[in-house]
Amino acid sequence: MEILIPEERIRQRIPELARKIARDYEGQPVTIIGVLTGSLMFVADLVRHLDLSLQIGFIKAKSYRGETTEAGTLDFSADLLPAVEGRHVLLLDDILDSGQTLSCLCECLKERGVASLRTGVLLRKIGRQRIPCEPDYIGFEIPDAFVVGYGLDYNDEFRHLPYIAVLSEKSPLLRRAPQG
Ligand code: 5GP
Ligand code: MG
Repeated sequence: MEILIPEERIRQRIPELARKIARDYEGQPVTIIGVLTGSLMFVADLVRHLDLSLQIGFIKAKSYRGETTEAGTLDFSADLLPAVEGRHVLLLDDILDSGQTLSCLCECLKERGVASLRTGVLLRKIGRQRIPCEPDYIGFEIPDAFVVGYGLDYNDEFRHLPYIAVLSEKSPLLRRAPQG
């Protein structure tokens, strides 16, 4: 496993993103919706730098990947989602790959009548977006590789790592793994 983004760089970047978010939402109450499970560290670290009137909720999404790492069907559950009607919502995910997860969840939130909707991702894979979806906040742009750590998993492992690391694309372990 090769470290792509060390802990220290994440620790520096999070408050920078928070400052931008705090400026954009100044004087407005915000609902942050994290996409479980991958966004858990990102949300937890970011909100502690936000001096805003803030509510936090989560939505559960899982995109199944088959033989390749291409995005498959998206399964999501809004059981944990708080009332978002009339709220200024900031949707946060760990990583933007094809764009399927974020665009699907944006549609779901819009249907619920949010007052406004912005999106943020810790990581964005360069050259992978198939569904047009431009996040308002991006932590880091990364090359097209399968990454784990800081919330991101492989088979529910490695989420606890305090850094982002690359798991080799060639690894046979990557086959048939659901990513959440
Ligand atoms: P998208 O729907 O944009 O194709 O993919 C986004 C979701 O797929 C993310 O929420 C994440 O769960 C998963 N994903 C995409 N790329 C990676 C990756 O490199 N590593 C891990 N662990 N998950 C990924
Ligand atoms: Mg995810």
